[in-house]
Amino acid sequence: MKPFRYLQRFVLPWRCLLCGAAGSDGVDLCADCAAELPRNRSCCARCALPLAAPAAMCGECLRRAPPWDAAWAPFRYGWPLDRLESRYKFGADLAAGRVLSTLWRREPCPIDLPQLLLAVPLHRSRLRQRGYNQALELGRPLARELGVPLRHDVLQRLHRTDAQTELDAVGRRRNVRGAFALHSDIALPAHVAILDDVMTTGATVAECARVLKRAGVQRVDVWALARAPKPRNE
Ligand SMILES: [Zn+2]
Ligand SMILES: [Zn+2]
Repeated sequence: MKPFRYLQRFVLPWRCLLCGAAGSDGVDLCADCAAELPRNRSCCARCALPLAAPAAMCGECLRRAPPWDAAWAPFRYGWPLDRLESRYKFGADLAAGRVLSTLWRREPCPIDLPQLLLAVPLHRSRLRQRGYNQALELGRPLARELGVPLRHDVLQRLHRTDAQTELDAVGRRRNVRGAFALHSDIALPAHVAILDDVMTTGATVAECARVLKRAGVQRVDVWALARAPKPRNE
C-alpha cells in the first residue's frame, strides 16, 4: 500500500457502502454484505448463464452456439451487487466502482488468459454524459493484476444505441446490429477477450465478438463482472 493511501485510510477507515458497518479486508464493504454477494458458481461454460445445476452448456447455447468461445462472470447480477453497480453506473458513485473492481480483481480467472482485453466501448455522446466508461474502469485493476493489456480504443461504437434495459432479447439484438467497428490500424492477436460490466442477454458482446471474428481473431472470450439470470418470462 502506498504511503499516501495508507495515510488516507488511517484518517478515513473502510466503511461498508451498503450498511455503514466497518469495512473489512481492505474494501468499503463489511464481511456480512460481502458474504451476500451472489457468486456465479454453477453456470453455462459457454455463456456464464446462471444454472440451478452444473452443466457444460445451457439450453440456449445448445440450440444456437453464441459467436464467442468461452465466458467468465464471477458474480450473478443480484442483491447486493446490483445496488453497487447501479450506484456506480448511473449515480457516478466511484467508491462503489472501486469496491466492484476490487472484488473482480480478487477472483481467480478460470479460463485461459487472452493476449488482449477490449472494453465494450460507449458511444462518445454517452461517454461525455457519464464521464467514464464503466466497463473499462472496472477492468483496469484486474487487467493490471493479470498483466493483460486492456484497450478501449480498438473496438469503436459507431452509433448511439437505445438503452438495452428497455428491450427484450430480439430488440436488443436488433439494437446493436452494426453498432461496432474496429480501429483499422491495430493488429489483433489470436486470442482476445471482450470485457463488460454486466452481461444480460449477451447481445452487445455477441455483436463485438462477430466483428472480431470477421477480422480474423481465432478465439474470442467474454469477461463480465456479473451475469444476469434469465428473466422468468423467457
Ligand atoms: Zn455491510
Ligand atoms: Zn449458455
